[in-house]
Amino acid sequence: MSFFRPEILAMDGYTPGEQPQAGKFIKLNTNENPYPPPPGIRRAIEEVLDKGLQRYPDPMANAFRTRAAELYKLPSKDWVLCGNGSDDILTICTRAFVGQGELLRLPYPSYILYKSLAQIQGAQSQEVKFNADWSLPASFGDPAAALKLVFLPNPNSPTGTMISREAILELAERLPCPLIVDEAYADFAEFNCIDLVQQNEKIMVSRTLSKAYGLAGLRFGFLLAQPQMVEQLIKVKDSYNCDAFAIGAATAAIHDEAWQADNRRKIIATRAKLVAGLEQLGFTVIPSQANFVWCNHQKHEARPLYEQLKAQKVLIRYMNYAGWRDGLRISVGTDEQTDVLLALIGSLL
Ligand code: PMP
Repeated sequence: MSFFRPEILAMDGYTPGEQPQAGKFIKLNTNENPYPPPPGIRRAIEEVLDKGLQRYPDPMANAFRTRAAELYKLPSKDWVLCGNGSDDILTICTRAFVGQGELLRLPYPSYILYKSLAQIQGAQSQEVKFNADWSLPASFGDPAAALKLVFLPNPNSPTGTMISREAILELAERLPCPLIVDEAYADFAEFNCIDLVQQNEKIMVSRTLSKAYGLAGLRFGFLLAQPQMVEQLIKVKDSYNCDAFAIGAATAAIHDEAWQADNRRKIIATRAKLVAGLEQLGFTVIPSQANFVWCNHQKHEARPLYEQLKAQKVLIRYMNYAGWRDGLRISVGTDEQTDVLLALIGSLL
């Protein structure tokens, strides 16, 4: 006899990547930024402390919303919803749109959390396999009566591949429900879909400060969507889903456009170096627009390589997708970390 709902007992649960709390690893397994965040966040955090923590934070994080609307050229702060990381945004959307027994669609292989969110809701999830060229089959846009929400990571994880803006607009026109374009990695890509939010209320863009702002430890993400959508989603979020430190630091971080441009340049340059190095060592690498790459060695199996690297304190991600394949997802680190990784792999092969 269990107290839990059957759907909770039946699910595996989402397991995030390894986060070792001791030992000095070169950590290239969860797509964090290897560089420290914009320096202005220190002062912002001190200001929160100086003000005191005895009061609740602004429940809407309006300072951040106002700045984000300016930065992304949206008409007002009412187009922005803040969350405790973008995982919180994805949770809010699933809770708001998908009821028990209804359907949530996602591409495969993609971000594993989406399926868990559906399971927690007691909803069905439908995984649609990417085509061989990483485009999506037409069936991804098929309207289905029970379909209530579609997730599309762009760039995708674990592949780093992208679906075009034109295809996304077309999808939104065909779908009977909202389409969350999960742009966790879009700051490293050649384009994004932020302006499409203004063209179709079904298109909503989810973003995070965990990757392109070096703030995975802070927990701050946000959604860009039309105001009538944000207005309803507010009812679903926790009252104070972003704490005062996170609001202060996140607002300071997105003010620093120069830091972001410089960081983006460095990561993209190191990504090219990582890909070239891996290819030279005999890996096949999927061309990526994110801060990670998916690769397989032409002769050596992925799992032992991951284990050998871990034993040498270099952490990458081994992933095994049923019905597709297993392989290695490697985050882009600093140039020095990349040199160490490539040399180590070279010595292990
Ligand atoms: N979307 C995708 C595709 C991701 O890979 C991640 C990171 N695991 C997230 C969303 C969530 O990131 P965060 O909650 O740190 O904003």
